[in-house]
Amino acid sequence: MNKNTFVIFLYISFLFISCGQVKTSESFTAMNTYMTVSIYSSSSKKGKNVCREIQEKVCELEGILSTTLTDSDVYQLNHNKILDAPVNPELSELLDFSKQMYLRTGGAFNPALYPVIREWGFTTEEYKVPSPERVQELLLNTDFSKVECNTAGLLLSDRMELDFGAVGKGYAADKAVEILKSNGIKSALLDFGGNIQAVGKKPDGSLWRVGIKNPWEGGAAAALSVESKAVVTSGGYERYFEKDGVRYIHIFDPKTGCPSNSNLESVTIVCESGKYADALSTALFVMGKDDAIDFYKANTDFDFVLVTKERELIYSAGLRGFIEPLTDFSRVECTADSFEK
Ligand code: ADP
Ligand code: MG
Repeated sequence: MNKNTFVIFLYISFLFISCGQVKTSESFTAMNTYMTVSIYSSSSKKGKNVCREIQEKVCELEGILSTTLTDSDVYQLNHNKILDAPVNPELSELLDFSKQMYLRTGGAFNPALYPVIREWGFTTEEYKVPSPERVQELLLNTDFSKVECNTAGLLLSDRMELDFGAVGKGYAADKAVEILKSNGIKSALLDFGGNIQAVGKKPDGSLWRVGIKNPWEGGAAAALSVESKAVVTSGGYERYFEKDGVRYIHIFDPKTGCPSNSNLESVTIVCESGKYADALSTALFVMGKDDAIDFYKANTDFDFVLVTKERELIYSAGLRGFIEPLTDFSRVECTADSFEK
């Protein structure tokens, strides 16, 4: 084979390989959110089958974790305070993980806040500001470490109720990635209501580009380039109500029992595990800027992007070169710069 023929052969091989990847994109609603699965696979039939498998898995998990579907495990647990053994293995796995996260984040991530969140009207959208006494009373039953899982099953104390809303979508995305991998999919992008999970790279070999929402003007405030990572954002602008000029958001500070009043507009976590990214994005939001950075210094197994109310963009060293600011920030800082001081 002469040189020209070889180049043509390479070109045709490349075309064949990239054309061999068919894109399949399917959307559905689950876990109270709009989800889109985009897969590159060898045929559209295979792509459709994998999409369906993922949708079925997410709906199955919703059937376990939902606080509103009356036959879900969590609904039954919240109402009866007991789930007989054997506890569903996925619920048990998520519970163990959540307990670890509750402890690691000093309680900033707490799935036992449900009665408090309901009192503020976030479960029905009939919003109200409860009295401080009522909030204090409800906070008495929010010690998540007291949830017992043993041979008898799963036990809640008297008035405790659980809600895995801050970690469920991330957990579901991890399960979806397992399905993609077991089907040999090398390139895919999941969008589970803003929880992004990138599998591999794009079929052309470039990185996935994921936007971080601009909390002030809409559009994107920054873009991240990632490969095989979860990118999960918790933002105060996502769900809130306003009363007497005060904004009350859907992320709660477990110490006060009130909507978080942290100095952050949003927290984005980038790491491999969707459930870790999801739990951390909520927890670091509650912690606020300084404690979030301190938490990162003590646990550098993830990357973060903080968008602060003072219009700063602060990101961790691992994202250097992979983040592009797309709006006017008052200050852009990479944590490594301040570490080195
Ligand atoms: P998203 O709305 O995108 O899922 P989060 O992952 O931050 O955002 O989850 C917020 C949801 O988690 C709330 O709607 C509420 O149900 C629950 N939640 C609120 N505050 C906390 C907290 N501090 N710890 C655990 N769950 C929380
Ligand atoms: Mg979360």
